[in-house]
Amino acid sequence: MRYVSTLGGVPSVSFSEAIAVGPAPEGGLFVPESVPRAASLATDSLAVIAARAIRPFLEGDALERAVHQLCQDAYAFPAPVVPAGPDTEVLELFHGPTLAFKDFGARFLAACLSQRRGGARTVLVATSGDTGGAVAAAFHRRPAIRVVLLFPLGRISERQRKQLSSFGDNVSAIGVRGTFDDCQRIVKQAFADRALEAEHGLTSANSISVGRWLPQVAYFASASIEHCAKFGEPAGIVVPSGNLGNGAAACLAKRMGFPIREVVLAFNENQAVPEYFQTGEYRPRPAVATPANAMDVGDPSNFERLRWLYPKRHELLREVSAVSIKTPKILATIRDTYRRLGLVVCPHTAVGLAARESRSGSFIVAATAHPVKFEEIVEPLVGRRIDVPEALEALLCRPATHSEMNPTLDELRERLALRPS
Ligand SMILES: *Cc1c(COP(=O)(O)O)cnc(C)c1O
Repeated sequence: MRYVSTLGGVPSVSFSEAIAVGPAPEGGLFVPESVPRAASLATDSLAVIAARAIRPFLEGDALERAVHQLCQDAYAFPAPVVPAGPDTEVLELFHGPTLAFKDFGARFLAACLSQRRGGARTVLVATSGDTGGAVAAAFHRRPAIRVVLLFPLGRISERQRKQLSSFGDNVSAIGVRGTFDDCQRIVKQAFADRALEAEHGLTSANSISVGRWLPQVAYFASASIEHCAKFGEPAGIVVPSGNLGNGAAACLAKRMGFPIREVVLAFNENQAVPEYFQTGEYRPRPAVATPANAMDVGDPSNFERLRWLYPKRHELLREVSAVSIKTPKILATIRDTYRRLGLVVCPHTAVGLAARESRSGSFIVAATAHPVKFEEIVEPLVGRRIDVPEALEALLCRPATHSEMNPTLDELRERLALRPS
């Protein structure tokens, strides 16, 4: 399988080459040249179904032979499906080390990069909170990889800051005196600086990397196969969406032929994509803040991948829909879900559950994070404390250290030149 850019114009590359560079040259996103068909719909463990689903994407690549091992490593924790009311199930994607679905993709990418031959790489990531922790946990102590995380000082939660700055070793966290947009800008400038890129072997671990995006197909494949085996018919899938990586992966799983009836992309008040479904016009906006803050994205970067999956608009509208959920409804859904079912959900998962209410048929709703990560919002609504899982407790107890810098490429250049201690 070869990889091409959504913008076209650059020669195709192998999977290993695509993950070594992150974004495609000229700012496009890598996508596979074609959509492979699912080879088997037999039930099995998550790691085995993952290997079956992912193997065609590695065909002909140096990593193809390692696919089972990569999947054992990345899918080392469960993704259980739990009932959540009539015709509704929740797919819990938050049992990894940082309690969010991003752990799966980050671990797969980390496993791939540490198998890869060739020199050491520096993974450079701008984070508004959750991505940094997942990437730090996934890459911690992997050989020949160094991780540099940039986060906006004072603009992420205390728990998020601890999560990403308590690893140490090959992971450095840098607090930038500025906003998330400043962090993202310097990261983009660093990738555009050929000399800097070559000197440090820079690569990305954001969802624009195919190595983080493609493995997300696996849990949708597995959950849809399970559901079909149990109930004899395919379920729809609801995906709480921000940058649209996870949602586009669910669409890819459907296009591959896994038994998914339809995909519902659930957004908060950032509604560029729902508007596109209505009008056919895509108009990105500045992000607005909501309680589902990991989904506060005004211009989702994976939108290009959705367009690539559905070049024909009528096919997109037949298989996929998009809904926007307002903030009061998010809060009411957290409260009502606890009252009716005794189930405590995070604000992102609540967006998904609210979107499910507007649809008929059986649905699997992706639960993207553990509610304890958003306890300031969730605890007052459900009127009780949420227990902190052991894995997080252990992490929060470790000493956390970060350095600080001004938001300029020159300062980043200096930091990169320092070897980690
Ligand atoms: C990142 C994130 C999302 C959004 O996922 P995308 O792939 O960016 O659409 C939703 N919920 C949580 C908890 C997240 O961390």
